[in-house]
Amino acid sequence: MLDSYNRKINYLRISVTDRCNLRCVYCMPENGVPLLKHDDILSFHEIVTVTKIAVQKGIDKIRITGGEPLVRKGIVDLIRMIGKIEGISDFSMTTNAILLDQFAEDLKKAGLHRVNISLDTIDPEKFSQITRGGDIQKVFAGIEAAKNAGLEPIKINCVIKKDHHEPDALTVAKFCDENNLHVRFIQEMNLEKGDFSVVHGGTGGDCGNCNRIRLTANGMIKPCLFSDIQYNVRELGAEKAIDLAVGNKPQSGHVNLTGKFYNIGG
Ligand code: SF4
Repeated sequence: MLDSYNRKINYLRISVTDRCNLRCVYCMPENGVPLLKHDDILSFHEIVTVTKIAVQKGIDKIRITGGEPLVRKGIVDLIRMIGKIEGISDFSMTTNAILLDQFAEDLKKAGLHRVNISLDTIDPEKFSQITRGGDIQKVFAGIEAAKNAGLEPIKINCVIKKDHHEPDALTVAKFCDENNLHVRFIQEMNLEKGDFSVVHGGTGGDCGNCNRIRLTANGMIKPCLFSDIQYNVRELGAEKAIDLAVGNKPQSGHVNLTGKFYNIGG
């Protein structure tokens, strides 16, 4: 699919839940968030239907996000259902890896190709502060499990304040070098202010070459993270919602006053 700026749109990011088992300070308020009602969350069948139609239209890269996708009950079954769709050349997941050591083998067998893991520091104390109580040893165990399962290449998403020469960014980069992991630095973003930049070591934030659309956990197709434009697949049907999203994809991001990272999936 080409959008009205002649960009090839071949990447669909699918948020499968707004729930998470961490409370990262730059993503979630301390006391959590008002969660989507169960009926508002797309069923596996609905997600697979949207994905099939998206692949028929030219999407060949699928990323599963959240919240935290591994807290969605039956996630391995969903991965297996999506993994059976022909035409997907790159099938990945972004996870905080807290539960990954329990799922890695099954995810690989179900058809997942690779994972991106969120890790902003390798200091256990700081990790606990940033995530409001997370245990970094579980992330390290998740990384090992992903390696053993062959969910590679493993990319590390490291959120930075301003610059990838910050102390934590440097230690995460060294950790990645020593462990054959690929680091990407993501500057902290602000949807309402429209603060974002190109991901260092990735493609996110590069509006001129943007190739993505998103499906939120409650069934909205969003042409852009930094925009309020969205189309409801339950009301319009997947085909029309995708066509409208691609047809109305903005040239570049601006602000998003209605969405949150935990229900769009970054
Ligand atoms: S801000 Fe919008 S157009 Fe720019 S890279 Fe992100 S999703 Fe694409």
